Amino acid sequence: MNQRAYLDHNATSPLRPEVREAVLGALALLGNPSSVHSEGRSARAAVEEARGKVAALVGARPEDVIFTSGGTEANGLALAAPPGSEPGRAFLSAIEHPSVLAGGRFETEARTVVPVTAEGVVDLDYLARILEHHGSEGGRPFVSLMAANNETGALQSVAEAAGIVHEAGGVLHTDAVQMAGRLPVDLGALGADLLTLSAHKVGGPQGVGALILAEGAGVRPLMTGGGQEGRRRPGTENVAGIVGFGVAAECAGKELSHMDKVARLRDALEDGVRTVAPDAIVFAQSIPRLPNTSSIAVPGLKAETLVIGLDLAGVSISAGSACSSGKVETSHVLAAMGVAPEVARAAIRVSLGIGNSDHDIQNFLIAFGDLVKRLRKNAKEAA
Ligand code: PLP
Repeated sequence: MNQRAYLDHNATSPLRPEVREAVLGALALLGNPSSVHSEGRSARAAVEEARGKVAALVGARPEDVIFTSGGTEANGLALAAPPGSEPGRAFLSAIEHPSVLAGGRFETEARTVVPVTAEGVVDLDYLARILEHHGSEGGRPFVSLMAANNETGALQSVAEAAGIVHEAGGVLHTDAVQMAGRLPVDLGALGADLLTLSAHKVGGPQGVGALILAEGAGVRPLMTGGGQEGRRRPGTENVAGIVGFGVAAECAGKELSHMDKVARLRDALEDGVRTVAPDAIVFAQSIPRLPNTSSIAVPGLKAETLVIGLDLAGVSISAGSACSSGKVETSHVLAAMGVAPEVARAAIRVSLGIGNSDHDIQNFLIAFGDLVKRLRKNAKEAA
């Protein structure tokens, strides 16, 4: 039997063998990292080694890394209580992950959604204008702009946004969950005050992530009742998960040079799709985007049908919008880009990783070609 082709790395990436080994080793550690005895100190040392590795992936200081239960919690922590005592207003890009769009502590009326262009890039002129207008409203503005979008891969101009936000006296958070491990991420170069990472997008375990602060930035904890993580995130640390995150971050940093190969595979896939369906639309194609991500719609076809058909043929992809509840909803990202709902419902997301090969792309294209022909024939017969 042919091997399955896993092309859904933006949902989760396979656990790296080195990570698995490190996690298993860490599970055998006995101590609580807060204990002063030697077992406790061993667990603490393992956590601090991982902290250094995660910090290094984004050019941050280890003491500015706050480990969390994942990207969702890190986004929530960023939005819980930004530095500065004034409540202020949140400016959230329309294409953010739902954990950002939920707004954290900002009430609905204290949130402004920042629109994107038809290619899915946040309109920075608009941001500059509304921040200028906000100046008279009082309160410190809080802006969240993701580094790369999880559906289209569209890269955002975070460094440019940082200039605009800081000029307005605001705080900038960036969700770099999808950019990390695919392109270099440097906190200083991005100029963000707060940055989110998730371990399972870089080959680490699920259920662990980090919020990383620029020097001098602060957060107010989401929960109370413990002094862990520099009094910023209470609760005994997930030692094994954190150790796995550290190893994954280290490997991901070393493998960035392989992303050229991934981009070539992605381009071959898109060329193949256009051969089968010349009317296929590739979203965000004309702008800088992640090397591994392809968001594609073939008008007239339903994403769910393609996802199920490809799954049966041994190929794993997602519908254009991630479905955390098992139900595919129309993508808020494509809607924000002005894509018609019937086209958005056709969108699939193919996301590659360095473990993918030409063979996986061939498997996808054979299965995709068969499906498209069959579905179009059925549609013609039914008409
Ligand atoms: N941010 C982005 C851009 C994501 O794609 C995801 C996961 O899909 C998250 C945040 C949430 O991360 P986690 O799954 O670790 O909670």
